[in-house]
Amino acid sequence: MFFVWGPHSSVSDLGVVADLCPQCAAVTPCRVFGKVEGAHIFFIPVASGITELAAVCGHCQKRFRCDINRYKTILPEFEAFSLSVEELLDRTNPTLKAKIEWSTKCEELGSDPRFTETLRSVEELRSGSLKTRLSKDLRAWNQLDEGQRLNLIGEASELTRAIKFATSISPQVPENAGCAIGILICLAIWGVAFFVPVSWDNGSLMGVALAGPLIGAVVYQFDVSRRVRLWTAETLVPEGRKAGINFRHFVALLDDLPPPNSRSTEVLKPLQEHAQIIREELSTLDVGVDRHASEALR
Ligand SMILES: [Zn+2]
Repeated sequence: MFFVWGPHSSVSDLGVVADLCPQCAAVTPCRVFGKVEGAHIFFIPVASGITELAAVCGHCQKRFRCDINRYKTILPEFEAFSLSVEELLDRTNPTLKAKIEWSTKCEELGSDPRFTETLRSVEELRSGSLKTRLSKDLRAWNQLDEGQRLNLIGEASELTRAIKFATSISPQVPENAGCAIGILICLAIWGVAFFVPVSWDNGSLMGVALAGPLIGAVVYQFDVSRRVRLWTAETLVPEGRKAGINFRHFVALLDDLPPPNSRSTEVLKPLQEHAQIIREELSTLDVGVDRHASEALR
């Protein structure tokens, strides 16, 4: 049967990159293929796109799945094979190149227990500007003088202790208990307005309808803030002192967390949501935190 219109599928040779083959563990030129799917009209492909990507290892010839976002660029065959593997890696896959260099350096410095201990501490940190900065300092380990190394070791160790403490204390942050108060206030305002024996015009009715949730939200925020401040002073600080954490580093971690996402199941989400209130409360207590504590870390 002849179809004027229908699905269209083909495999396209996209070019060559340098990659680490998961089958033979060689870093080698790999040919990248994309599965192109779309539709055709009179056998002319229209509205097509790459739905799947695979690479074929130039060493063992085996095929593995790959992600186009990993590559800076994909070079045409004639250009790729005029380069050495190192040059091809630099052009097409600089992230892998940096990873290999870093792993080589770790092996070289592996006999230094202070380096390996600090590396372990840094790896325990969440991705963020603190981890990026400490990793950068670690890469320059050989160029650091003794004082700088001691600072780096101390900072990495304090931050690791702080992240462990943050993870354990976060589920205890008071959360939505104040929500009920906000709803009650809102209902109370609506209820009083309903029973007041006056005739309401449309504007007044609209005003009362909006005032209920608005005042309820303000009361809710106030109540949450009060509870979190109390919890900071009565739970967070004593527990933190018991765990021996440095509160400046704890606040630096809070500042480094990404903004809270309502759908997140992240264990640090309660701390993320109330980070500003906690920081403000800590700055009023005698724990060595000021309002710009994280900036003072460096
Ligand atoms: Zn291979």
